[in-house]
Amino acid sequence: MTLPPTRRVIGPVARAGERTYRPRVSFEFFPPKTPAMEESLWQAITRLAPLDPAFVSVTYGAGGSTRERTHRTVKRILDETTLKPAAHLTCVGASRDEVDEVIREYWETGVRHIVSLRGDPPPGEGGIGGVYVPRADGYANATELTKAVRGIAPFEVLVGVYPEKHPESPSLEHDIDVLKQKVDAGATLGISQFFFDLDAFLRYVDKVRDAGITIPIVPGIMPVTNFAGLKKMAAACQTAIPSWLGNLFDGLEHDAETRRLIACSVAAEMCAKLQEQGFEDFHFYTLNRADLVYAICRVLGVREVSPAPAEAAA
Ligand SMILES: Cc1cc2nc3c(=O)[nH]c(=O)nc-3n(C[C@H](O)[C@H](O)[C@H](O)COP(=O)(O)OP(=O)(O)OC[C@H]3O[C@@H](n4cnc5c(N)ncnc54)[C@H](O)[C@@H]3O)c2cc1C
Repeated sequence: MTLPPTRRVIGPVARAGERTYRPRVSFEFFPPKTPAMEESLWQAITRLAPLDPAFVSVTYGAGGSTRERTHRTVKRILDETTLKPAAHLTCVGASRDEVDEVIREYWETGVRHIVSLRGDPPPGEGGIGGVYVPRADGYANATELTKAVRGIAPFEVLVGVYPEKHPESPSLEHDIDVLKQKVDAGATLGISQFFFDLDAFLRYVDKVRDAGITIPIVPGIMPVTNFAGLKKMAAACQTAIPSWLGNLFDGLEHDAETRRLIACSVAAEMCAKLQEQGFEDFHFYTLNRADLVYAICRVLGVREVSPAPAEAAA
């Protein structure tokens, strides 16, 4: 087949390779449970750190179950790297005084970013999607927590946003009203729940802008390698899984390597398409593994930041 000389068949990934600007990226990690998991977390951090992320966030387990491990991980990132840790914090299972104490400690140890969340009921009390009953002496929701964080110190406060609506919300409009309350309380950036329906995400961001909300809305990207696990998580979060994604993983239950290659290709294409829509910030749910996210960042034009000349010569 001969193509006319002016026509180029080129997709979003190749176009990403032609771009000259560098997007901003951030990475989410979870606090490790065992020494072996600690080792793999630090391998991931070491591999991804040279990509100079805007921040790296550390999750807070359901029901506050990882409180100590989250604090330890955040502290180690501060002590041993130049990365900016964003500590996730929830309202679950703690009084306002206890939460305030944690916020103050974070500020004193040098943390400047908090991901302010309500959290879900603990697994024994319904888990994700269960009925959330706030403690009488605790913060009731992310808005109250955000207000408290900003009242204690001038943190950057990041909050969760839900392009396909939070499962407990009656409507997307209600969700956007809640986001507005979080912004009025001091939130400076929204990180989205993971999603695969790009149109839904773009429609959501349009609605957020129509509501007069101007904080950056950063897409949360989840490279999927475990499709069976994803289906469970997506059902709980009410995130739609398009049929094409199921088709790509069909029959690969025992072929982890091919699943990983597909995961990388799907996530890279999603990000490249978002770049074409003007998005320049990406937050990656790393699951404490560097390789896929590293490859996707390469596709997006994110490279290692060269050491300063003095450092390089040393
Ligand atoms: C980027 C990201 C990171 C996350 N990290 C963690 C983590 O580390 N640990 C963890 O346990 N969970 C985490 N979660 C999950 C999160 O805790 C749950 O999604 C939780 O159910 C809602 O948290 P939120 O901060 O969005 O809550 P909120 O913003 O408080 O909203 C919760 C629900 O209450 C409703 N609501 C809030 N305020 C009002 C109001 N004034 N009036 C009426 N309705 C209201 C909202 O519409 C929504 O349905 C994360 C989620 C995201 C998107």
